[in-house]
Amino acid sequence: MPFPIRRWPTRKVPARRPPSEHDTSAGPYYAPRVHELSIAHSLVELAQQHLPPEATRVVAVDVRIGALAGVVGDALEFCYAIATEGTRLQGSILRVHDVPGAWHCVVCDAERTLDATFVLRCQVCGAPAGDLLAGRELELTSIEYDTAEDAPR
Ligand SMILES: [Zn+2]
Repeated sequence: MPFPIRRWPTRKVPARRPPSEHDTSAGPYYAPRVHELSIAHSLVELAQQHLPPEATRVVAVDVRIGALAGVVGDALEFCYAIATEGTRLQGSILRVHDVPGAWHCVVCDAERTLDATFVLRCQVCGAPAGDLLAGRELELTSIEYDTAEDAPR
């Protein structure tokens, strides 16, 4: 399992205040959570399109979220429960797999990962971040479901 799995419900959505322009110590500032609700609805719609007719119950939906995707995993998990109400996905859980940001530093010719400071500079030579290799993902990767054959007899 390449990424840690968090199960819903785990934590409350952190209420963050916007840091001053040059202070990144509090991490990035996140806008109100309407954003995640709209993503959750899109996710549910997409999952339903790919759900085969023989699926009787959806167990879980897996998504990969990059550190630079601008989506808060906890908030998305919370909104997912709301977005699935009345759909074939109701009662299923959203499994968020975090993808760290990574880029290629042309000066060091090495891969660098985004750390907690969210500063897009090479930690070794200080060069600005080059081409992003990972971190913008927002992908539905799999849907776990039961069929009639899985039901206990
Ligand atoms: Zn470097």
